[in-house]
Amino acid sequence: MIAGVLALQGAFAAHQARLAEIGVESRQVRRPGDLADVDALVMPGGESTTMSKLLVSSGLFDPIAARIDGGLPVLGTCAGMILLAAEVLDGRPDQRCLGAVDITVRRNGYGRQLDSFECDLELTGDPGGPPFHGVFIRAPKVERCGPAVEVLAEHDGVPVLVRQGRVTVASFHPELTPDPRVHARFIDHVHVHVHGEAP
Ligand code: GLN
Repeated sequence: MIAGVLALQGAFAAHQARLAEIGVESRQVRRPGDLADVDALVMPGGESTTMSKLLVSSGLFDPIAARIDGGLPVLGTCAGMILLAAEVLDGRPDQRCLGAVDITVRRNGYGRQLDSFECDLELTGDPGGPPFHGVFIRAPKVERCGPAVEVLAEHDGVPVLVRQGRVTVASFHPELTPDPRVHARFIDHVHVHVHGEAP
């Protein structure tokens, strides 16, 4: 399995480090041809308005949308979550999103005082397990989840890690802590649901 990491802008190198720790080979995706042989894609944090523009100017927007339609598993973090959402509040009028997860997110939704913060999160399916340290940086806030969306972690009753089908999105930055569990769960899900293999 080869995981592509969208490398137009933002925290892509840290994602590659987390993937390497769990034994997953990754490749930087900068142009449409780079998508050809990837089995999964990570869309990192950064600035979603800039990334939206770069996705269009690099010619990647439509090919990524088509691969997602075809079942490509994707992990989106922070700005990546915004780009994968169905609806974005407080975005720029020309900001495009892929609509791969039926959520409404508000850009910078945690407001000025909580511009950036860190907190411990409990991952579903791991009750009593060690908390996952969540790093939130001008994070999007999930304001609505559609019926097909599974919540995998919450903070103060607000979903911060959710999955719909093969697409997982996080408000926080799991690549910035030395804990590969969010990446490992994503990759396990790819193995089980896409390749039909036991993790
Ligand atoms: N606030 C940024 C945006 O709107 C996201 C921040 C991040 O990815 N750390 O795109």
